[in-house]
Amino acid sequence: MTTCFLNGNYLDIKDAKVSVLDRGFIFGDSVYEVLTSQDGGIFGLTDHLSRLEKNLSEVMIPRPMSRDGWREVLAKLISAHEEADLSFYIQVSRGAAPRSHDFPQDVKPTVFVMCQPYVMDHEFHQVTCVTLEDNRWGRCDIKTTSLLPNLLLKNAAIEKGAHEAILVRSGYVTEGASSNIFIVKDGQVFTPSANDRTILPGVTRKLICDIVQSVGIECTEREVRRDELMCADEIWLTSSTSDIVAVNILDQKLVGVDFDYPLGRRIHKAFKDYKADNLLGF
Ligand code: PMP
Repeated sequence: MTTCFLNGNYLDIKDAKVSVLDRGFIFGDSVYEVLTSQDGGIFGLTDHLSRLEKNLSEVMIPRPMSRDGWREVLAKLISAHEEADLSFYIQVSRGAAPRSHDFPQDVKPTVFVMCQPYVMDHEFHQVTCVTLEDNRWGRCDIKTTSLLPNLLLKNAAIEKGAHEAILVRSGYVTEGASSNIFIVKDGQVFTPSANDRTILPGVTRKLICDIVQSVGIECTEREVRRDELMCADEIWLTSSTSDIVAVNILDQKLVGVDFDYPLGRRIHKAFKDYKADNLLGF
């Protein structure tokens, strides 16, 4: 049985039911988080909960529970599953109400948390990407479940035989359809800035910046032009479920002067070590 949490109850995911009037279903009027556990300990919980709370406040959905409440739900789900490594999906919608564009009053948010076995990958992978025009809305900083634009972009990339779409808006790189981007050039690391509301500020992105700096290398947030991608020494993608991977082929061309990704490998190893040392046990 796969146990999930829905509105205060722990139940088999097969029995978890939400109203067809739920605004998450009707409008995508909901926000979400994805985080992982390793050896039964959760990684980055405070960062993920801070982002969830910020997103809830951006879309004016009340916080459904305290941080201790979230912790308790995740701890119970961990103990209900045999696997030590899990990925968790948290979704909070505005709740169920008669369909109307107006925000309904006095409605309780729908809170859903599920988890699934998560296969930890200790290898440093390389993936193929294509660049695509970023045609999403202007609030990419909000982690909303309204992901249709991201899905269209991701699937356009898959149709071209790629793993991920690297998105470009008006000549500047924003992020991947489901990841953040870093480039390495002449020993320096750059990542597109988050202050222009064109990227989701990834929890992994922030940690990778800190780790790069901790090994004595500059990591700068700034605008990154599309042509800088094409002549980068390394390109990395980061996200909570894939940590850090390198891009080896972009738009059918090999990336980088040195195809062994020396810095990427070093940061990948440092990140794995950091993760193992910073798991929140229960
Ligand atoms: N950008 C987008 C659009 C994402 O969907 C994600 C998460 N998959 C990320 C960036 C990475 O965020 P995080 O490191 O917090 O998983």
